[in-house]
Amino acid sequence: MKYKSQLMVSVVVGFALLTGYLIAYAFFHREKGDLVYIIFNSYALLAVLLSFLMVLRRQKHEAHKKEIARKRLSYLAKNLTSPAMLWNDSFTEVVPNDALSELSELKMREDFDAKHVVPMFFGKTEMSDADIREIVIAKNQEYSFITPSGVPHDMIWNTSAVETDEDGVTWLLSIGMDLADIRNMQSEIATYSRKLSASEGRHNLTMELMDVGLLLIEQGNPRLFPSEKLQKMFGLRSNTVTVQEIRQRIYPLDVVAFDSHVQAIRNHMRHYIGRTETLELRICSADGQYRWYSYRFRATTNKDSGRLVVGGTVIDISAEKQKDAKIEQIAYEDAVTNIPNRNKLMRMGEELYQCTIELNSSYWVIVMDIDRFHLINDTCGYATGNALLRSFADALVKQLSHGGFGARISGDNFALILRDSGDETLPEKVVGKIQRALLTKAVGDLSNRSLTCSAGYARMPADGDSFEHVLEHAEFALSSGTKSLGSIRRYTSEMHDTIIQDSNLETQLHDAVMRNELELYYQPKVSLTTGEIIGLEALARWHHPSGKLISPTVFIPIAERSQLITQITRFVLDEACRQMKLWQTMGLPDTVMSINFSGTDFYQENICAQILKTLQKHNLDPRCLEIELTESLALMDIDVTIARMQELRAAGIQLAMDDFGTGYSSLSYLQRLPFTMLKLDRSFVAGMDGDPVVQEIIRSVARVAKAKKITTIAEGVETPEQAKILREAGCDFAQGYLYGHPMTAKETEQFIRSNQNEKNVF
Ligand code: C2E
Ligand code: CA
Ligand code: CA
Repeated sequence: MKYKSQLMVSVVVGFALLTGYLIAYAFFHREKGDLVYIIFNSYALLAVLLSFLMVLRRQKHEAHKKEIARKRLSYLAKNLTSPAMLWNDSFTEVVPNDALSELSELKMREDFDAKHVVPMFFGKTEMSDADIREIVIAKNQEYSFITPSGVPHDMIWNTSAVETDEDGVTWLLSIGMDLADIRNMQSEIATYSRKLSASEGRHNLTMELMDVGLLLIEQGNPRLFPSEKLQKMFGLRSNTVTVQEIRQRIYPLDVVAFDSHVQAIRNHMRHYIGRTETLELRICSADGQYRWYSYRFRATTNKDSGRLVVGGTVIDISAEKQKDAKIEQIAYEDAVTNIPNRNKLMRMGEELYQCTIELNSSYWVIVMDIDRFHLINDTCGYATGNALLRSFADALVKQLSHGGFGARISGDNFALILRDSGDETLPEKVVGKIQRALLTKAVGDLSNRSLTCSAGYARMPADGDSFEHVLEHAEFALSSGTKSLGSIRRYTSEMHDTIIQDSNLETQLHDAVMRNELELYYQPKVSLTTGEIIGLEALARWHHPSGKLISPTVFIPIAERSQLITQITRFVLDEACRQMKLWQTMGLPDTVMSINFSGTDFYQENICAQILKTLQKHNLDPRCLEIELTESLALMDIDVTIARMQELRAAGIQLAMDDFGTGYSSLSYLQRLPFTMLKLDRSFVAGMDGDPVVQEIIRSVARVAKAKKITTIAEGVETPEQAKILREAGCDFAQGYLYGHPMTAKETEQFIRSNQNEKNVF
């Protein structure tokens, strides 16, 4: 795009100069003479030439950049021994490696027309976005294609999205496995297995195949039998070992896979008769280094003892792994923390889920996030933010020594899978340890006191019918506890029951809106320096027919899930404007009335017109109205948000960012979104006493806001000490029980009158 517009500009400039030149030529040539003509001539030609040169250079630079990126990726594909291709979702290019060219008999570059060839490999004639998504998710799915000479191939493709370039084109890497190869391998193993059963005993067999490591596991025998070679490989001192001795040598991230296989082998040895399985793990070898080993095993009956035996070869595959490591890294490793990413977690989790079903075992799935991470990122910079993520990953990995799997799944979200050995308090203990570890991390200039993390967890397979489902439930538990820092919540099905109760309330709420059971309470906002009331926030209350007063924290979320919120907001807007106008006509001092908006309200097409109409109806100045938006709401669709906010601002309406400090809390949004006020969430204020870090954060937030001419207000101020700290930190206003609870209209009126006479500055 950039390039095109530059080209346009250059052409226009070129033509303008040429035209100018022609006019000047006509004018001067007649009047003056050849010298001026030559100067103009050269000048204009030079300018045209220069602008074209500029465009050419730019074009070359862009092409060069793309070329480098592409080269890097195709290098990775080319170095794979398996058939592989790099392609993009606009089907403009496909880069096959040699193995794929050979297998598919498509040798020429022209043969690889992405539009035709990529779908062909997936057994299709063309592919939609949904097909691509399915391919990326699907695993071990077989696809067939026929080569030009008529040879059919069955393949398994593993596809990962590796990068999205600046034009929004996603590049995907597909690594294939020819099933013919797998079948060959199976027959090779069958031969080996025949040898195994034909041999006279373990030790003969060990002698026979000394060049590779061998490991035998006998049914009912707690000891395993490594061959001499394997003893050397792992530095084992005896020709029998316990599972525990091997387990101690396994790389922490691979212990879960080891455990589940050992359990499967022990409990279901019969499963493996005639079936070859491969287990790839990192194990500490004799030289103290972790190396990759592959154990290819199957079960057979030992003729001597009549017992079942699982036997297989152990081969060092580090060299092969190293080749594929780069690709593994891109597809499965998080670049910031170097621990597995979400892709890897999903694969691992799905496999484990299957194991839990087959083996009747159980795991904990824990999801964690660092409290107020975005704020730390913003105030201390990305380098500190990344260092904190790495520290967190370190703390997490330390918890894996007893078997477990950890990953960074997004932003500041991490996940942990732990073996459930019957201790119901294990997740809390482990998260507690991570929380304590976090406290001891000195990250850049951030002192440690405010570093906490929250967690939600669920049990697998009990809490969901797939791994994805269990993970969702753990995330659900996490999000239901976000209001308090450092919370650890276990998923329970009752969390869903509240949703069922909600639907009952929903019907009642519908009637309540119709029957006018809603009332507005008002809470004053006060200047921290003068004690004057500068505004009032309208907060909805529901008088339930049972006589109870229901809190908006209960009914607003229900209303938001249905369309009821639209009617509630319409009522709140109308009532708040009416009340404000009434107070103004009664001669009470001018203040601003704030109302809270939900996402559905804000994204309504005609919302601005509706507000202006209500203001007109009550003859209220738009400058007396403020709308409070939470930042997550404001970020649902950034372009629409900016447009809508500007429309409201142009009409004179004020806009406050509510609950700052709970969601992403990114100060950068203040740069982009035209807020007039920033409301620090009350969790901030509550955690502020004696915590210099939180105070420092408030100071920086207030400073940034001030520079942008945005006022700051703190919510939930309950003590004079808090008011003092906030004032010193540069915060302008405050709201909270220290000044006044939310009150009925009548009480509010009295409150405003008494404030006229006596202003309290705490
Ligand atoms: P909010 O906008 O953050 O409102 C502030 C909440 O903090 C109010 O709770 C208020 O009573 C409470 N609060 C004020 N000062 C203090 C204090 O010093 N200490 C403590 N602990 N709490 C304090 P409330 O009225 O229960 O409202 C809860 C939430 O419900 C509001 O949070 C707002 O998000 C939502 N809400 C209330 N009315 C409406 C409405 O008309 N429309 C929409 N969309 N949401 C509303
Ligand atoms: Ca609010
Ligand atoms: Ca708030």
